[in-house]
Amino acid sequence: MGAINRRAFIKAGVLGGAAGLAGLRTAIGSSGEATAGNPGPVYRTLGRTGLKITVVSFGAMLTPEAEVIRAGLDRGINYIDTARRYMNGKNEGIVAQAVKGIRNNVYLATKARPTSDTKKDLFRDVEESLTELRTDHIDVLQLHSLKGRERAFIPEVREALVQLRQQGKVRFFGVTTHTNQAEVLQALTEDPDRFFDVALVGYNFKSPPEIRQAIARAAKAGIGIIAMKTQAGGYQTAALGSISPHQAALKWALQDANVTAAIPGMKDLAQLQEDMSVMGLALTQGDERILQRYGQAIHPYYCQLCGKCEGSCARGVALSDIHRCLMYAEGYGSRELAREVYRQIPKRASLGRCRDCPACTASCVNGIDIPAKLERAGRILA
Ligand code: SF4
Ligand code: SF4
Repeated sequence: MGAINRRAFIKAGVLGGAAGLAGLRTAIGSSGEATAGNPGPVYRTLGRTGLKITVVSFGAMLTPEAEVIRAGLDRGINYIDTARRYMNGKNEGIVAQAVKGIRNNVYLATKARPTSDTKKDLFRDVEESLTELRTDHIDVLQLHSLKGRERAFIPEVREALVQLRQQGKVRFFGVTTHTNQAEVLQALTEDPDRFFDVALVGYNFKSPPEIRQAIARAAKAGIGIIAMKTQAGGYQTAALGSISPHQAALKWALQDANVTAAIPGMKDLAQLQEDMSVMGLALTQGDERILQRYGQAIHPYYCQLCGKCEGSCARGVALSDIHRCLMYAEGYGSRELAREVYRQIPKRASLGRCRDCPACTASCVNGIDIPAKLERAGRILA
């Protein structure tokens, strides 16, 4: 670790034994109160996998330094979420560095490419992930970005996954979904073969009741639910002044007992400290007030990724995916990730289709100005 990084670690109270841990435990809460006395790492069981994982687990998608992940692991986090394609394929290597020497104390979840729907694709993705992660097995392999029930039932995909499990390369199967989430969850819930054990879903204080209900049914069926997008885009908003809504948003997701864990993306030690100190804390009325203000502030541009606008574009533009890319750029502050995800959208559904469109007919059920968003997306992504 370089000198600068080490200084940053000490400053954040993440190194340095008891003193460092005290730093974490006395972090300032989202509503301003000291959180001294929070019980440290808290674990829940990931559905029928039986894995006991920390309720705040590590979303590594945007973490550039292995040391940041390692600091979380040293303080008890035991589940890391990555994907084959994050950081143009480099993210798994960073995770590998972070778990060096302690691989067996940590659960690793990764994702095949979103377009991988054949045996050949999946075998290739898994071999690449094993190499990059420098491990002989993946704890949870997820099919990435399901938009409906179909991809969960492709026989060839299931055969490939079963073979990978028989070879000892994958322990449990999961899916991730951002769009049409209730349908995807319902498909997994009703699956007579109980094939998928884990679902990674977007869930936050802005989610409609149908998502909460679908999560409850899936959890009851034994599916381990991991929440992502818990920060509703992570937008910085001047309307809140210096108050951070992030801890409140995380607590909101974790107050739902049907959610096993959340995987907030943590880029640096400050974010790690902020997120870890939430474990074991209840949502307060102060948090709820913050979320209400945050929700109002982001309402004009926060997209629930419900996909309901897609039918209003006759040219089949992948509006939900494009909104998500824009969220990565404007909310998460990562144009790189935005462009990376955008590149996965087929040409026939990309922004190029809008170029000679005489008038945008796309409309949002939540009142978002889609043409304005597309204009911004065009500038950032195309
Ligand atoms: S401008 Fe609007 S209606 Fe036209 S192709 Fe683009 S999204 Fe569809
Ligand atoms: S723009 Fe509106 S309709 Fe479209 S996905 Fe977002 S919230 Fe749903």
